[in-house]
Amino acid sequence: MQKGTIGVTTDNIFPVIKKFLYSDHEIFLREVVANATDATQKLKTLASVGEYKGELGDLSLRIHIDSEKKTLTISDRGIGMTAEEIEKYINQIAFSGAEEFLQKYEKDANAIIGHFGLGFYSTFMVSKKVEIVTKSWREGAQAVRWSCDGSPSYTLEEIEKADRGTDIVLYIDDENQSFLEESKISGLLNKYCKFMPISIVFGKKKDWKDGKEVETDEDNIINDVKPAWTRKPSELTEEDYTKFYKDLYPFAEDPLFHIHLNVDYPFNLTGILYFPKIKNSVEIQKNKIQLYCNQVYVTDSVENIVPEFLTLLHGVIDSPDIPLNVSRSYLQSDANVKKISSHITKKVADRLFEIFKNDRKQFEDKWNDLKIFIEYGILTDEKFWEKAQKFCLLKNVEAQSFTLEEYKTLITENQTDKDGQVVYLYTSDKDAQHAYVEAAKSKGYDVLLMDGQLDVHFVGKLEQLLEKSRFVRVDSDTADNLILKKEKEAVDLPEEKQEALKTLFNGQMPTVEKVNFTVQLEKLGSENVPVLLTLNEFMRRMQEMAAMNPGMNFYGEMPMGYNMVLNTDHPMIQRLLEESDDASKNETVKQAIDLALLSNGLLKGEALTQFVKRSYGLM
Ligand code: ADP
Repeated sequence: MQKGTIGVTTDNIFPVIKKFLYSDHEIFLREVVANATDATQKLKTLASVGEYKGELGDLSLRIHIDSEKKTLTISDRGIGMTAEEIEKYINQIAFSGAEEFLQKYEKDANAIIGHFGLGFYSTFMVSKKVEIVTKSWREGAQAVRWSCDGSPSYTLEEIEKADRGTDIVLYIDDENQSFLEESKISGLLNKYCKFMPISIVFGKKKDWKDGKEVETDEDNIINDVKPAWTRKPSELTEEDYTKFYKDLYPFAEDPLFHIHLNVDYPFNLTGILYFPKIKNSVEIQKNKIQLYCNQVYVTDSVENIVPEFLTLLHGVIDSPDIPLNVSRSYLQSDANVKKISSHITKKVADRLFEIFKNDRKQFEDKWNDLKIFIEYGILTDEKFWEKAQKFCLLKNVEAQSFTLEEYKTLITENQTDKDGQVVYLYTSDKDAQHAYVEAAKSKGYDVLLMDGQLDVHFVGKLEQLLEKSRFVRVDSDTADNLILKKEKEAVDLPEEKQEALKTLFNGQMPTVEKVNFTVQLEKLGSENVPVLLTLNEFMRRMQEMAAMNPGMNFYGEMPMGYNMVLNTDHPMIQRLLEESDDASKNETVKQAIDLALLSNGLLKGEALTQFVKRSYGLM
């Protein structure tokens, strides 16, 4: 038997591994299974070029738990290793400045493992002893057993082993006994190894018999060696794509669309992205895009790899070219990653445009679900906007859909104001703002429905993006003033009468919490209502923004500024100027103010009760 010391520069590498790699203990399994997969792929390659002439036989990897010996074994029938190869690949881990590096990246186990090829050694995070039992594929190779108890010394001895390949035997340590539980290993295999390219067998398939779960003779293969994204789109049906989606997210609803990515220049990238049907935000957090490296699961935090708005999508991205094993902050600045990110954006945009062009009906039908992605993309990504302006839709209150171009053509003639700005009218709630919508429509205007989660921001963004355009909510002014085509007609009342009206109304103005009222006089025509409340567009937007953005609290604290517009053309307002009985005048003013408040949902509690009483009194 040979004894030796592993070639590391520090004596205490194993305590360091154990101590610092705590964050992600479980990835040891991925590392060993990935090594076993590599060893098997290598043998297949040797066979295909004729260097290996023997039988390949069953190449499945096998994972086995021995609860008595407290071992977890990963076996392959790949190329195996000779004693010299163990010396070279396992014993000589060049590890200069290890401790310094480990301290620097103590939170990022992946970084350490990838950077130093620590893959195999990650097993020491969970094992008190590790054995490698292996026999090389070469003819007449001598099988060997390498054994190491976590100190830098190891033993290497010649043994008998019938079969080619490697068993990695992990003697799980006391703190990590959970890795001897079948359900735990099964869960980890499902997370990390579900799509690895070599069959992985874990126990036997189970069946239900007489209400009990019994083992069958059939191997339980836990992975799909040729997942959908590795296949050609032409080989796949719609059902295949949906089925794959369900494999990834068993509880999600069917997706809206998919995008099959397949890039081989200037980098390698495959994958399938899905536009999900989002019911609530919990699902977005739970069902994330998964990142793979040659079918080995790496992570589901893809924040820096795909553009932010696409993190709302679901699916899989697989690339050997993304530097997976470096720290997150490094990823952000990596040029390759940036290229990949903008390429994905382009692909997604192209695909959406294609669907829009080929099947506009379908696109329109799915718009309500799709809208959040597209708006988010436009809000956050200029490149996306360049493409998306061709297929971004606007819907009006009649549920008709228009492209931006079409809509502009529709409204330009009737909705351009005196300064040459095209005014897009919209409602954020077509029931609550019903009267205003109707008033705008009666002037022949079209009203957009902008009631989505992002629409407050989106309206502002569109104003920046579209030239000479303005968005105005229907309740922000009287219908006549929404789109001013000429200067407003001046109120034809003497100054003192105007003041008298203002004083009269101000005297009866209720106090509503966080609301300010300003009385204004306007000529709105005798057929219009006598008193109308409007909400200044600018103020309202500031408040809406503040509600979503804690940094803008200043605006959130400010009261809402409503205008109480008195229509000087209305006979009732004129009567108020003539009457002399103060008591009855005040009654009328109160009633008129309450009616205006009522139509804006501002009349509540005590004030509402008073109003009802007063109204009966008038009947
Ligand atoms: P990496 O996989 O990043 O090279 P590892 O520490 O995981 O680093 O493995 C070191 C080397 O040991 C591998 O490159 C491979 O040559 C060899 N090796 C590990 N596991 C096996 C195995 N199951 N069969 C054959 N060789 C293996």
